[in-house]
Amino acid sequence: MSRSESIDFKNLQLIFMDCIFCKIIEKKIDAKIVFENKEIIAFKDIHPLAPVHILIIPKKHIVSINDVNVEDAKLLGDMIIAARNIAKDLDIAENGYKLLFRTGKHGGQEVDHIHLHLIGGAALHEEIRPLEVDWK
Ligand code: 5GP
Ligand code: ZN
Repeated sequence: MSRSESIDFKNLQLIFMDCIFCKIIEKKIDAKIVFENKEIIAFKDIHPLAPVHILIIPKKHIVSINDVNVEDAKLLGDMIIAARNIAKDLDIAENGYKLLFRTGKHGGQEVDHIHLHLIGGAALHEEIRPLEVDWK
């Protein structure tokens, strides 16, 4: 192994150690888990925006949608299926809900480990317009 490879590995370990969602996966910090399998875990958001606010995350540390590769396609599909099942279990499927991947700075992403928001349990506002009024 070259010197640069070993430095990368060390950096990678530091990133995982610092990732709050990796710590939830490892059960090092508490979360209200609603679903878990080998690849995915889903838990209640600590600051819910609506009566139902669940985060569905892969156990694999992926920073954002910008970082997914073709091999992650099944995993991402499984996250959506998990969201659908949770929505059904929590009885919000019929009335509907939002699924959201925030990505990067403009997307408002705060935690650098991919997470799919499942938000529902009430009719929701549409808040996706740019912050700057004069954008055209
Ligand atoms: P983002 O803005 O990155 O799309 O969403 C991050 C979400 O993670 C936020 O809704 C925030 O409330 C949630 N969150 C951040 N830290 C924790 C935590 O330690 N536990 C749980 N359950 N949710 C968290
Ligand atoms: Zn992570």
